[in-house]
Amino acid sequence: MTDTIKSSFINGEFVAAHEAGGVLENLNPSNPGEVVDRFARADAELTHRAIAAAKAASREWARSTPQLRADILDRIGTEILARREELATLLAREEGKVVREALGEVDRAGRSFKFYAQEALRANGEKYDSVRENVGIDVTTQPVGVVGIISPWNFPIAIPAWKAAPALAFGNTIVFKPAELVPSSAWALTDIIARSGLPAGVFNTVIGPGRTVGDALLRSPDVDAITFTGSEKTGRHVAGIAAERLVRVQLEMGGKNPLIVLDDADLDLAVEVAVQGSFYSTGQRCTASSRLIVTDGIHDRLVERIAERTRQLRIGDALDPATDIGPVVDPGQLEQNLSYVRIGVDEGAKLVLGGQYLENDRKAYHFSPALFTDVQPGMRIYREEIFGPVLSVLRVRNYDEAFAAAEDTPFGLSAGIVTTSLKYAEHFKRNSSAGMIMVNLPTAGVDYHVPFGGNRGSSLGPREQGTYARQFFTRVKTSYQLA
Ligand code: NAD
Repeated sequence: MTDTIKSSFINGEFVAAHEAGGVLENLNPSNPGEVVDRFARADAELTHRAIAAAKAASREWARSTPQLRADILDRIGTEILARREELATLLAREEGKVVREALGEVDRAGRSFKFYAQEALRANGEKYDSVRENVGIDVTTQPVGVVGIISPWNFPIAIPAWKAAPALAFGNTIVFKPAELVPSSAWALTDIIARSGLPAGVFNTVIGPGRTVGDALLRSPDVDAITFTGSEKTGRHVAGIAAERLVRVQLEMGGKNPLIVLDDADLDLAVEVAVQGSFYSTGQRCTASSRLIVTDGIHDRLVERIAERTRQLRIGDALDPATDIGPVVDPGQLEQNLSYVRIGVDEGAKLVLGGQYLENDRKAYHFSPALFTDVQPGMRIYREEIFGPVLSVLRVRNYDEAFAAAEDTPFGLSAGIVTTSLKYAEHFKRNSSAGMIMVNLPTAGVDYHVPFGGNRGSSLGPREQGTYARQFFTRVKTSYQLA
């Protein structure tokens, strides 16, 4: 780290640090004594300046040619992919994701830009005959205008990328507010975008707190749409303000994703799917499995094997290639994990393994993945999103009970089943009310070219990603003309 203080990017320029209020230190969760970067914290006034810049740039960008947008997006994607190792290392340092996973995230970000470079060129629009004589109808899509992006800390580059790329591809301008815990990847992405040839004002990044910067974005009459990813609590707040303002909103929120394992499952596969889905990325994924619903005949063998496999996982520095599980992102999340472990024990669940803070010299936020059995469906550890590597196992008698238990949740993001039965796999795919279904695969781990999202407390509004992203980032117009 240098002594440089990085800052927000508004109207084609990084603003002078002294214009903002206070300094934000970005610390490495694997080594909290290390400052990854320092940032000038923006306030509401700077946010309004960014919104004004985005608004001023909006008209011209909406009229830009698809070829120009495609070329710029492709350039951004190319640079992200070319610098994948450096960006993944930065991501691992600020968020604690192990480098192997950080590389996957950076690749996803780069490929999202490349995908939407192509989408910008995709012909769009329909022509109809009217039900009336001599009348023709055109159905076209147009940019929404100024889009506010509010993102969480757990995917510091992929989520901003999968929101920004389609927004730009379909002709919108952007004010992006990253999570305060992970401004370095957001800044690196901004720096790449700043050199991509985008006209000034089309893309702006404002680094600062939710209660000021985020709030200014939500309440500004010049912001035409908000795409938010984060907790359900903040999502409800965002939706409330959007409803008052009648502004377009897209929410991606929490999950309490079930993984069913049936007696007929391949045991080795079930162990890998459960451990990967529940504990990798330190359980800090909205799609992580946190409820394992297991039929009687395989329950004890599966729990034993998961415990054995989990004991082999190496918990350590995110930059060490031998590490499987990096640190928890910050002391607040660590305390939340520990507190849920206490709640689980108090509720009467059996802590089979883990759930401890692991003392270490550097005071890294290391937490051992926790496995609970003897869980009852009413327990808080089974119902509430913990957002850490804490897995609650529910024992059931058969598929019907398993299916009912999986559905018994206020969330609905991802849901999985491990089985060799075509009948149950098919039933689950058809009838689960989650937005994403995984058969013999971990609940986490999705592709960038197909829709992403869930239902109930997990998502609101049109799907993100793939070709479906067009729905949120464009308005539909129907034009009638007398021949
Ligand atoms: P969070 O809700 O605390 O914060 C998300 C963003 O909202 C941050 O940028 C924050 O600064 C901003 N914010 C906070 N208060 C605000 C306010 N009053 N007004 C405007 N903006 C405000 O969430 P987090 O802790 O950063 O992320 C973890 C959560 O994100 C988990 O619940 C996880 O499940 C969810 N998540 C969901 C998905 C998904 O696609 N469904 C993906 C990743 C993470």
